[in-house]
Amino acid sequence: MKKTVIVTGASKGIGAATAILFAQKGYNVVINYNSSHESASLLCRSLASHGYSVMLHKADVSNRLEVELMVKETLYKFGSLDILVNNAGIAFDGLVTDTDEVEFDRIIDVNLKGVFNCCKSVIPSMISRQSGKIINISSMWGQVGASCEVAYSAAKAGVIGLTKALAKELAPSGITVNAIAPGLIETSMNSNYTIEELNDFVETIPLGRIGSADEIAAAIEFLSSEKADYITGQVLGVNGGYVV
Ligand code: NAP
Repeated sequence: MKKTVIVTGASKGIGAATAILFAQKGYNVVINYNSSHESASLLCRSLASHGYSVMLHKADVSNRLEVELMVKETLYKFGSLDILVNNAGIAFDGLVTDTDEVEFDRIIDVNLKGVFNCCKSVIPSMISRQSGKIINISSMWGQVGASCEVAYSAAKAGVIGLTKALAKELAPSGITVNAIAPGLIETSMNSNYTIEELNDFVETIPLGRIGSADEIAAAIEFLSSEKADYITGQVLGVNGGYVV
């Protein structure tokens, strides 16, 4: 039977690359998005036109009820849920003194509570089948902290803590939980940087280049595969050697 994966934040960037890879590998793919309806539905139509099994679902991951509905619809359409990729995320650049409470809460709500909401909604069906794989997208800034990204770094560090605790809690149920901590990846999340700023950053990356969304998708697919059955509670850095 085909396996089913939900990829949150799949309208662009890493999530879109992941949805494409899973579709090509023969999975049923749920393409989740929040605000980018145009690009998400274009991706969905394009994959469907190639005969891939896909479903589009709008849900704000920070909203528990919307997430629950997405999981219910997934189970209704595909019958089971094997993999959850918690990829949806937003960034915020600014001094901590310029970060107001509303902005701080939004970063935590989407990047951390969103992971909690999605995990909580998928876990009952995974426990009933005694199998499942959850991959959470953190960031190298969650490992080492980024200046002017206090809320984002805190949220992504929280994702790592959540991953480790949940891995221990769910291991007896046959479910693995891992995180990926990407380095600088070429997506719209970094579109606010100038070419000069990006070049300066690249000089500090041992492998001497920015990573691609496809390279993160490949790591996600690996952790979702049977090859990673004995890996749980781990944080895989995909960062060109920036954090070792
Ligand atoms: P991106 O191109 O900006 O894509 C972000 C995705 O998250 C979009 O599909 C967006 O969908 C979705 N999203 C945002 N808020 C959402 C919400 N409330 N509910 C559901 N979906 C939501 O960024 P990206 O670089 O691919 O980032 C993907 C993940 O990788 C994020 O968790 C990010 O923190 C992490 N990451 C990225 C980098 C990097 O350098 N790019 C490095 C480390 C970690 P809509 O547009 O439809 O709202």
